[in-house]
Amino acid sequence: MSMNIQELHKLTGKIALVAVEKALYSYDLLYSYVVPYELEAVVSAGKRVTVPFGFGKRKLNGMVFSVEEKEYEPASIKKISEVIDDDAYMTPEMLNLAIWLKENTFCTYYNAVRCILPPVLRNTGKLPKDKTEKIVRLTGNETEDKLTPKQKSVLDALENNTASVKEICYLCSVSSSVVTTLIKKGLLEELVQAPTLYDADKAAQIYRRDVSDIILTDEQEAAFNSLINLFKSGEARCALLHGITGSGKTSVFIKLTGDVLKTGKSALILVPEISLTPQTIAIFKGFFGDNAAVIHSGLSMSKRTEEYKRIRAHQAKIVIGTRSAVFAPLDNIGIIVIDEEGEQTYKSERSPRYHVRDIAKQRCFKHNALLLLASATPSMDSYQKAQIGKYTLLELTNRYSGNNLPSVYIVDMKLERTMGNNGNFSEALLKGLRQNLENGEQSLILLNRRGYYTYVCCVACGEVAKCPNCGIALTYHKTGDNLCCHYCGFIQYNTNKCGKCGSRFVRSDGTGTQRVEDELQELFPTARILRMDADTTMTKGAYERGFGSFGNNEYDIMVGTQMIAKGLDFPNVTLVGILLIDNSLYAGDYLGYEQTFSLITQVVGRSGRGDKKGRAFLQTFTPDHYVLRLAARQDYRGFFDEEAAIRKTLLFPPFCDLCIAEICNVIEKGAVEAAKAFINIIEEELKQISPIPIRVLGPVKNGAGSINGRFRYRVIIKCRNSPVFRGVIKRSLIKAHTDKRFEHCRVGAWFDNS
Ligand code: ADP
Ligand code: ZN
Ligand code: ZN
Repeated sequence: MSMNIQELHKLTGKIALVAVEKALYSYDLLYSYVVPYELEAVVSAGKRVTVPFGFGKRKLNGMVFSVEEKEYEPASIKKISEVIDDDAYMTPEMLNLAIWLKENTFCTYYNAVRCILPPVLRNTGKLPKDKTEKIVRLTGNETEDKLTPKQKSVLDALENNTASVKEICYLCSVSSSVVTTLIKKGLLEELVQAPTLYDADKAAQIYRRDVSDIILTDEQEAAFNSLINLFKSGEARCALLHGITGSGKTSVFIKLTGDVLKTGKSALILVPEISLTPQTIAIFKGFFGDNAAVIHSGLSMSKRTEEYKRIRAHQAKIVIGTRSAVFAPLDNIGIIVIDEEGEQTYKSERSPRYHVRDIAKQRCFKHNALLLLASATPSMDSYQKAQIGKYTLLELTNRYSGNNLPSVYIVDMKLERTMGNNGNFSEALLKGLRQNLENGEQSLILLNRRGYYTYVCCVACGEVAKCPNCGIALTYHKTGDNLCCHYCGFIQYNTNKCGKCGSRFVRSDGTGTQRVEDELQELFPTARILRMDADTTMTKGAYERGFGSFGNNEYDIMVGTQMIAKGLDFPNVTLVGILLIDNSLYAGDYLGYEQTFSLITQVVGRSGRGDKKGRAFLQTFTPDHYVLRLAARQDYRGFFDEEAAIRKTLLFPPFCDLCIAEICNVIEKGAVEAAKAFINIIEEELKQISPIPIRVLGPVKNGAGSINGRFRYRVIIKCRNSPVFRGVIKRSLIKAHTDKRFEHCRVGAWFDNS
């Protein structure tokens, strides 16, 4: 650089726009940095760099969004310090997704970047090679202790993940003592077993087959033809495959995937949580073998990284995975399938709060690909869009086996009680179980509560044992003789003593899966019973072992939570019992009916899938409830019409958009006051613009108590999701972040259209 140019106070050079880690929402933007001459050859969009930020010498990680030749004033602009990545891990498509996430979920740029990048790249780490041994993960507990930056970076890196201590030390450049301290503080826990909770390769062995072996039925063929034509249109399209349980939706999209691959394009298959669909993953892997990469949260970092590399190197052209796999670095996507598209697990529960469907749409749009949503119980949102012609609707109305759907009997538990049966099982269900045992047929029992007793209470003073963090009733677990909180994982040894008055007269009640297992074993001493829930599937290989041996008829009865309700295909199951379904109808938000309808339809659909007829018993205290009646008839259309009418009248999605703002504080009053203040801020913002239709409700308390020691209050906004509306929320959030009334509060907002 020569003197006379500098004298003009302007230079021309490469300027990078960089998203900076740790920027708060209120000042989050793409910051300009000069690319120093010696780094010009290596800085490019999609790579991580370190940059000076704020006053002092602090260096932060950043993601380069663009590099452009520009005129600049040297005095007012800083330089990029270092380049972290050798390769650009974010493609232009992904950088655009990050911008979309920021705009639509009110997160920061870097938060969006972290969510798109594979976990191993979230901190300063590069792709590691180490094998794993001692495994740690987050406990979900929080602490009021002040954490060091190193401790924080470890917690960040472990978000939604497991990793070995060695991996973590390498990734975050910390010594193992940092990890040890975090374990002592109760923030991390060590897993007893190796990290791969689910081994797709192994599970796939029993399903090895060839796509060309699939012969579709006429009905499947018709759906397939429509879909392949949509794909061949070469335009971004969206279709909804609504097929009853056992109709063979999986066969349709395997065949479709096979054909898409033949054209040289790639495919992305999304399934709900691994625990809900281990069999589906195994079936896919069985068909596509090494051409398929599997990504889910139970993988170790090194396994995940291995799969990530195979995808980037085009060695795997199919990705099967859970929610985060929607960001898989596939090129040239031909089709994205979302199986069981109505599942809640497709919604991210932390910032950025996106829905997989929305990301998939963005990607299909970019790649001119086909988006295929599939379910026996589609979301209200998708079915509505199919009704008005936004999606192409395809229906499968017959079971592959040619059998009818199972007969469902609603059992009135009030009547059982008046007849002197105070137990968990109706006479009808017991009789059915007995018959099945005699005939060598299998049965499923669904109860969506794990543990033994669901609460413990003092006979003397009435106190219910509660979680000190969450204020929610603790569940008694027989194995280990302890009381656990199902929200935060808090565990305390069972003392059989009231924590309030000290009385020794404590009584436990309520029913969880452990208790059901015990009671069934007592009733049917010779029956071979398998329990599948979060407690029994903690260890390596538990899914494959459990479902594998059930499939081999090594068990007569499988008791479980919703992980046994969906996606499973066992032809010898002819009886399903559903216990205590009533609670689920009143789950707290507007999705309660939709979810209950779906759960019943799905679990009932596990019965009678082979050549024998199936049946199901639905035990309830409200036998006349129309949702239960419709679910018993497996009448999706009937349910949709009823539910749509209600949502239209009360104005809920899909007839409006729902934006939720949440304010958390350790002090309840602080949360309430701030939530009210937030409503005021929104109202002020609305005055600044020409009127838009909007309804602001709340604040309402979220959940029964505080979660993890924080009280959560929500403001619910019925609106139309438009740039103008998002502008209002964006500015309101920024104001709140700098407003004294929000001191010690966390404020966030997101859209919740399921
Ligand atoms: P869904 O996902 O619609 O509930 P599945 O795809 O699991 O149904 O199919 C139900 C059963 O029928 C499975 O055992 C599956 O292997 C079998 N099946 C479905 N379609 C075919 C086909 N075209 N050829 C052979 N078997 C099929
Ligand atoms: Zn708790
Ligand atoms: Zn007491």
